[in-house]
Amino acid sequence: MNKKKWIFVLGIIGAIFLTIVIFKNYFSHSRKHHEYNVQHLHPKVQSAMEQLIRKAQRKGISIRITEGFRSFDQQDQLYSQGRKKPGPIVTNAKGGQSYHNYGLAIDFALYDEKTHQLSWDIKKDGNKNGISDWQEVVYEAKKLGFSWGGDWEQFKDYPHLEMTFGQSIDELQEMLN
Ligand SMILES: [Zn+2]
Repeated sequence: MNKKKWIFVLGIIGAIFLTIVIFKNYFSHSRKHHEYNVQHLHPKVQSAMEQLIRKAQRKGISIRITEGFRSFDQQDQLYSQGRKKPGPIVTNAKGGQSYHNYGLAIDFALYDEKTHQLSWDIKKDGNKNGISDWQEVVYEAKKLGFSWGGDWEQFKDYPHLEMTFGQSIDELQEMLN
């Protein structure tokens, strides 16, 4: 082979190598991005959740977060409850249709420190101040920027709190594609 051919071959090998490096970087980056979106609670949601627990505690109300991030598969399982599977219907959202699937929603329940029992009694007034504990927690949650599932017209989801940051479910789904 003459010199010109060698340079050509080396050029091709170099180009292939560069393409592999760029692709590898691109994919590892998008995988990280994907994980960031769906594996964890959004940092702002996480921080608001921690503040909510503290604020409720200051009012004499203990709460527990019963659900945060939910995978698409887990969401599909939940959707089939009361439809293909026994039990009551608890959601109208299939995999990818809930803000839980993007780390943007949490569910809470009241917690009794003495009996160690969770409670979903929205009328309970454990701190005896004339306002239901549930209502007080929701009030604080809204001040922190959460929207409440109890305000939904179609399907009231009282334990549910979410932050949408102005993103519709369609927009979030598009971001993953
Ligand atoms: Zn929820």
